Amino acid sequence: MNRQTFTLTLQEARMIAPGVRHLAFTRDDGEILAYVPGQFITVHINTDLGLARRSYSIASIPGQSSYIEIAVSYVAGGLATELFANMEVGTTLTASGPFGRLILREEQPKRYFLVATGTGVTPYRAMLPELAQRLNNEPELAVTVLFGTRTREDILYSEDFLEFAKQHPRFNYRACYSRMQPDTDYECQGYVQNIFDEFKPNPENDIFYLCGNPHMIDASFAKLTELGFPSQNVRREKYVSSK
Ligand SMILES: Cc1cc2nc3c(=O)[nH]c(=O)nc-3n(C[C@H](O)[C@H](O)[C@H](O)COP(=O)(O)OP(=O)(O)OC[C@H]3O[C@@H](n4cnc5c(N)ncnc54)[C@H](O)[C@@H]3O)c2cc1C
Repeated sequence: MNRQTFTLTLQEARMIAPGVRHLAFTRDDGEILAYVPGQFITVHINTDLGLARRSYSIASIPGQSSYIEIAVSYVAGGLATELFANMEVGTTLTASGPFGRLILREEQPKRYFLVATGTGVTPYRAMLPELAQRLNNEPELAVTVLFGTRTREDILYSEDFLEFAKQHPRFNYRACYSRMQPDTDYECQGYVQNIFDEFKPNPENDIFYLCGNPHMIDASFAKLTELGFPSQNVRREKYVSSK
């Protein structure tokens, strides 16, 4: 897949949770960005100290949107946060991509566990059509999305995952709150990695994807390694700022 540099124009933006803004862009050259769900783009920001780069997973659901969508979680004092929080429709910016290897591969595990905190859930949103195809074609496959967040109001894109779960009986969606008691049957309490045991993770059959907060990823990776998972079956993407 060719990595390119292109100009984007903001077409739509809305807050989807406190401090999280969903932004939808088009390419100015009219081209469609060819990407594999799970990949990210990097935006280029000019500063007095030179060019800064920040990466954002592509949140768009292929087939449902022709926009390049991202979800930006605000970080206090953050350079890109400042840019995206104040960006108005019609603003342009330079970006490059696609990048990243947090993608579904040609393989047939019995179960996928797609684990995220915060905006780390966006790659899994983009994977939904591909997951639908695999669930339809592979009768043994089960997929679980485990989404960790502080409270119910911080949940992102739950409507997409819950709707998908209605259509696909072997797809399971759980939201885990670190600072709130659960209310409905898809909700649970605690850090997301603490509910892994409930599913009896099996290194022979399962593949884990981990995306988002580095602490969650390190804690989850340590836990899965202890259970005997080889590192190639625990795929990770940490959301840390590049310099
Ligand atoms: C592959 C990849 C994909 C990513 N995808 C997304 C995405 O889809 N959505 C998204 O919102 N972010 C994503 N990120 C993180 C994003 O690239 C930026 O790091 C983030 O938006 C903060 O940038 P900033 O310029 O606003 O803050 P900065 O100016 O980089 O940081 C300001 C201060 O906040 C601290 N800080 C930086 N990030 C965090 C954080 N997450 N939590 C707490 N403190 C922090 C810094 O150490 C610094 O002190 C991704 C990162 C990577 C590497």
